Amino acid sequence: MSTEKIVGRFAPSPTGPLHFGSLSCALASYLDVRNLGGKWLVRIEDIDPPREIKGASSRILSQLEDHGLYWDDKVLFQSTRLDAYQNSLDILKQHNLAYHCECSRQRVNSLEGIYDNRCRPSHLPSTNNATRLQLNQPHQLVEFVDKIAGRHVQSLIEDVGDFVIRRRDNLFSYQLAVTVDDQYQNVTHVMRGSDLLDSTPRQIYLQHCLGFTQPQYAHLPVATSPLGQKLSKQSLASSLISGQETLNIWSALNWLNQSPPNDLQKWSVSEILTWAISHWDSSNIKRSLTMPAPEGF
Ligand SMILES: [Zn+2]
Repeated sequence: MSTEKIVGRFAPSPTGPLHFGSLSCALASYLDVRNLGGKWLVRIEDIDPPREIKGASSRILSQLEDHGLYWDDKVLFQSTRLDAYQNSLDILKQHNLAYHCECSRQRVNSLEGIYDNRCRPSHLPSTNNATRLQLNQPHQLVEFVDKIAGRHVQSLIEDVGDFVIRRRDNLFSYQLAVTVDDQYQNVTHVMRGSDLLDSTPRQIYLQHCLGFTQPQYAHLPVATSPLGQKLSKQSLASSLISGQETLNIWSALNWLNQSPPNDLQKWSVSEILTWAISHWDSSNIKRSLTMPAPEGF
């Protein structure tokens, strides 16, 4: 692969400011493609308005800039991409790969995460019904090699069932939107948290259905609190303290097992990043689903 074709991305949801875990993901994906001479894009995944916090997008973008993580091209906001998601959904329907599901939320919840495909195939009107992707043999058995987590195999029929690509409230699903946008932005390298490892086979399956190119995946450990919870707004993870960007970057590099010398803490953010790009080695990252954040974060 020629270096100008390498494209990575950081794709936060605007549900709150960056914390140590999300900064580490942004930094890792940035260093991974910059080390290869590739492009780094930022995409704001703002297609779930009920979960969004006003002002979070601009806060995240200014935090990235404060940490020297400058992106290429314009930021892509998923809220501007609804026509593209609809277009892909229409293609799936035209190929009889999608159907409407009239199951109640209560019924779906009672199935504990594995849909039993009861509504397959149906010709219900599209209003007020979720749309599910109909899984077909043999491609539903997805296998891929994650650059950090290793070989991953999932039978979508056994572990997930036909899954929702547009919700009952008419919002497009995360799985569909992320798949369409990774293709649209020519993303070749996806590096993100291990909480999305189990979503990856669904995205690979959608890529297959839509004739898209499969990027290379690498799933980082998720940073956890001392109580073992994923750092998130829900676990009351604190936002990064502004004014200590150098310490934040150094601590994230250390957490990513890149062995940054202590002296780096006296350098500027851009000097640390220059060091980190040339010394980046993703094979040093611990192969683990979770890892405690350092003390103080
Ligand atoms: Zn149903």
